[in-house]
Amino acid sequence: MANIRKKALEEFTTRNAGRFYVEERPISEFFGQNVFDLEKMKRYLSGEAYKAVVDAIEFGEKIDPSLADQIASGMKSWAVQMGATHYTHWFHPLTDATAEKHEAFVDSLKGGGVFENFKGSTLIQQEPDASSFPNGGLRNTFEARGYTAWDPGSPAFIIDQTLCIPTVFVAYTGESLDQKTPLLKSIHALNKAAVAICKMFDKNVVKVNNMLGIEQEYFLVDEAFYRSRPDLMICNRTLIGHTAAKDQQLEDHYFGAIPNRVMAFMKDFETEAYKLGILLKTRHNEVAPNQYEFAPVYGEANISVDQNLMMMIIMKKIAKKHKLKVIFHEKPFAGVNGSGKHCNWSLVTNTGVNLLSPGKTPRTNLQFLSFFAAVIRGVYEHHALLMGSVASLSNMYRLGGGEAPPAVMSVFIGETLSRLVESIEKLTSKNLTSVSDKEVKVRSKLHIVNQIPEISPDNTDRNRTSPFAFTGNRFEFRAVGSSCNVASSMFILNGVVAEQLERFKKLVDAAMAEGLSQDKAMMKVIRQFLVESKKIRFEGNGYSEEWHAEAEKRGLRGIKNAPDAFKEYISESSVRMFSGQGILSEREAHARYEVLNETYVKKLQIEARVLGDLTTNHLIPTAISFQNSLINNVKGIKELFPDEYALMCATQLELIRKISGYINQLHKDVDDIVEARKVANRIEAITERAAAYYQTVFPHMDTIRRIADELEMVIDDELWPLPKYREMLFFR
Ligand code: ADP
Ligand code: MG
Repeated sequence: MANIRKKALEEFTTRNAGRFYVEERPISEFFGQNVFDLEKMKRYLSGEAYKAVVDAIEFGEKIDPSLADQIASGMKSWAVQMGATHYTHWFHPLTDATAEKHEAFVDSLKGGGVFENFKGSTLIQQEPDASSFPNGGLRNTFEARGYTAWDPGSPAFIIDQTLCIPTVFVAYTGESLDQKTPLLKSIHALNKAAVAICKMFDKNVVKVNNMLGIEQEYFLVDEAFYRSRPDLMICNRTLIGHTAAKDQQLEDHYFGAIPNRVMAFMKDFETEAYKLGILLKTRHNEVAPNQYEFAPVYGEANISVDQNLMMMIIMKKIAKKHKLKVIFHEKPFAGVNGSGKHCNWSLVTNTGVNLLSPGKTPRTNLQFLSFFAAVIRGVYEHHALLMGSVASLSNMYRLGGGEAPPAVMSVFIGETLSRLVESIEKLTSKNLTSVSDKEVKVRSKLHIVNQIPEISPDNTDRNRTSPFAFTGNRFEFRAVGSSCNVASSMFILNGVVAEQLERFKKLVDAAMAEGLSQDKAMMKVIRQFLVESKKIRFEGNGYSEEWHAEAEKRGLRGIKNAPDAFKEYISESSVRMFSGQGILSEREAHARYEVLNETYVKKLQIEARVLGDLTTNHLIPTAISFQNSLINNVKGIKELFPDEYALMCATQLELIRKISGYINQLHKDVDDIVEARKVANRIEAITERAAAYYQTVFPHMDTIRRIADELEMVIDDELWPLPKYREMLFFR
């Protein structure tokens, strides 16, 4: 068989790399054209129907089914006019992917012929036979139905001539089978708890929105290389591959000029994103070669999450046109940076106040401090659960890697706020006063050189080594993985904050009942929260070994391995928080725990199988071929120089021996990993099976890789069957 790597290299070198995508219209002319947003609703719906949808979006009011037909019909008219032929309920099952089952609009007319039809009942609810999605036992009862139900809070959109209607996905019992349901519930809980506190400052606050800005990192690989690497194709990461002589050490890719081919791809997907109403703002090269990032402007969490998933879909589609493959995996290449999804999180009132923005007056600062302290207190209490929420087979390859956030939680707040917090901690019950303007004066000007105007540095210096950092007017949760649906981390963050906000209010009320003024009562509780959560605050280098020792001393629990971290979902304090905030029942939490373990086992099983195939069917045969050519060479030399051959062939003989060693080791390790799987597969309970996979299967992955990578270093480059790192990681 021809060497597939050679073919891929040929294909790659003939690529037309200079083509730019051209969209000549200004973005403002087509922005949002593929979304059924409020502006279109106004045009396509009756006044009554429009108001019903707006009330549903703004205040979570239920839409009267009698209006559903009108709404569906308006939506359909718009979609059909836009060329849509099908519709689908679009949902987020527990797979990190999205799901869709298309139905055509056309229906037969009684007297013959067809017409486009879309009923209100179909808009509101469907029962896709989605029984094959992971459900953690929630659908194993006699009545295994699953329903999707319309989420009017996130606008319908068109992709590939299909009207996609964002929906939740629940079991017939109402138990959630998806990521959106708990997210919506958590947003609701957060709103309720936050409004109660805001009302103490301003009676006009009736709603607090959970805002989210998601930065998405990703890799790009030429399609030809991707297709010739079974590991990339099936596992989205390279299971073997020696690092290239040069990768990111010169730091010349980060923020560098974007290569032409990549720019063409970016412009293309950005255009589609704009049409879908996604306000992309930032694009740049990331640290690792061929690693990039985009970030839209933040928006309401529910919509931001949907838009992030929409982006992942369209990027994959558009990449195909450019003969590229987008890799969202957290650690597709060893030795270079992995990818995350930084979640920028804040709370904004209906009156337009960002509750995490330090205020201008002592009073607004008191409000800021209340929320600031509640977030930190919540993160402290549930730090292990929050880290558990980002744990997965793939993200564990990234976390704690000395480039990604460490696998133990801490909160970074910056120098100015640290000083402020320290002064609050020193307050005594006698001198409880709200903090003065001066103390929260967080912006200072920086003078650089004469011709450069003065700049205001961020309130906080940046600390990239922290998994959870305050960045001036929001918190940034950086440990979240690039391939996941961030809803799973966000509903947990929302829940833990809501729980503390509730507690905050209760404690303030109690202090006031004892005679303290409202301001003093608040200051007292803020101080209490900050003191209680002191251990989670860390301003130093999160990558350092000292920090890990220190974190352990402080009793902070990090993630050692994914199956262990999953247990946090069902710990007593987690279940109390989930059920107390109405986000997940105990049964739902257990179901999720099962699904996480199941996914872990399946993914690791697939990786182990692919690695076995690569080793047995690609590497060992290649090693033997090369070894044969060495043997023939030695034989020939021996014939010509019978007396001197041993000296002349010293290198070849040594190599022949070395290769035999590698072959035997690889063969043995593959046998061992197969055996380990067999033993683990016999374990009935999925949680125990996951633990066994981690303990007995996982370690072999690394051993095999190490030998395979050594082998790559000795085999004739001509014969090596898989595209190498130096080939895959560079576009020029
Ligand atoms: P960074 O410098 O951290 O890489 P980026 O500009 O790449 O920042 O992305 C920052 C993200 O944070 C964007 O999505 C941005 O819209 C979002 N963001 C900014 N302010 C807020 C806020 N108050 N609340 C939530 N997200 C925010
Ligand atoms: Mg960024």
